[in-house]
Amino acid sequence: MKKHNFSAGPSILAPEVFEKASRALLDFEGTGLSVAEISHRSAEFVRVIERARSLALEIAGLDDTYTALFLQGGASMQFLMVPYNLLERKAAYVDTGTWANKAHKEATLFGEAIVVASSKAEGYKYIPKEINVPTEVDYLHITTNNTIYGTEYHSIPDTKVPLVADMSSDIFSRPMDYSKFDLIYAGSQKNLGASGSTLVLIKKDILGKVSRKLPSMMDYQLHIKNDSMYNTPSTFAVYVNLLVLEWLQAQGGLKAMEVRNRAKADLLYAEIDRNPLLKGYAEKEDRSLMNVVFNLTDESTQVRLDSLCKEANISGVKGHRSVGGYRASIYNAMPIESVQVLVEVLKEFERTA
Ligand SMILES: *Cc1c(COP(=O)(O)O)cnc(C)c1O
Repeated sequence: MKKHNFSAGPSILAPEVFEKASRALLDFEGTGLSVAEISHRSAEFVRVIERARSLALEIAGLDDTYTALFLQGGASMQFLMVPYNLLERKAAYVDTGTWANKAHKEATLFGEAIVVASSKAEGYKYIPKEINVPTEVDYLHITTNNTIYGTEYHSIPDTKVPLVADMSSDIFSRPMDYSKFDLIYAGSQKNLGASGSTLVLIKKDILGKVSRKLPSMMDYQLHIKNDSMYNTPSTFAVYVNLLVLEWLQAQGGLKAMEVRNRAKADLLYAEIDRNPLLKGYAEKEDRSLMNVVFNLTDESTQVRLDSLCKEANISGVKGHRSVGGYRASIYNAMPIESVQVLVEVLKEFERTA
């Protein structure tokens, strides 16, 4: 029986996506070949990656001053590709959690990378609002959703410098002005598909300004010139990206995603706030619509909640080791019915205390 999968990533995809992807693994669009064995240079696959690229730009509402790449190495590779390609003098980072911190650490290998705001001292429970960005920095880097601590930017800071964002865990979860950003990256395995590809949306005119020499695989311009096929892309992962983007549009696009995501998050946070055995982790105003993090008021009750979850066929709610407690990831593809099951379990947990 299929589980209610609240895993932080790799995570749930829509049933239609799993179905189409599994059919294509056996026979890709009547070619007599699997999507995992067709040539990435074949007309069929070129159509897939072209369509995925144009859909990603269309959903983001970005014009042709931007381009979309499907690369490998995850968001973690982008932590270094960004400074490799953009950091000449100095870069600014906002430290809102483990991933933001890792992104900053990589940048320090390439030049001066300053932290302009941090919520570390408060256990990353909030998003810093006052950020002072020196005008001479090459870019400001933010992490729009903090997967581990369950915080999310609900308004994007206005900056005079190029803005770069790690959107791995909330890309395409809501309408926003994506053109505020000069570079956006997201590993696929949360809101975009299976692991193995990374979407990068780039405003082309920010490239080509650094003086260092770039190894081929690190060079965004080379990947752009080669239509994301400088080396062999993960054909399967990119195909799943396309299926997810098509699914998202068929659901009604970003507006529909936001309605759906807000309904799920409201339901779950309301129960966490109501239930005397639970306490939410993040500050209310910065709570994530994607990752709902909560703790128990009495840690010794954990075994009981774990077994209730197991009985209800719930999987993947264990909190990240750095926060403890629980984390329910409710990405785009998560149906509200699964959240209702979790809320029922939390109520049962209280009733049987
Ligand atoms: C999951 C995650 C990452 C790491 O992604 P990889 O694809 O494993 O490198 C980075 N940033 C954020 C915000 C994430 O949620």
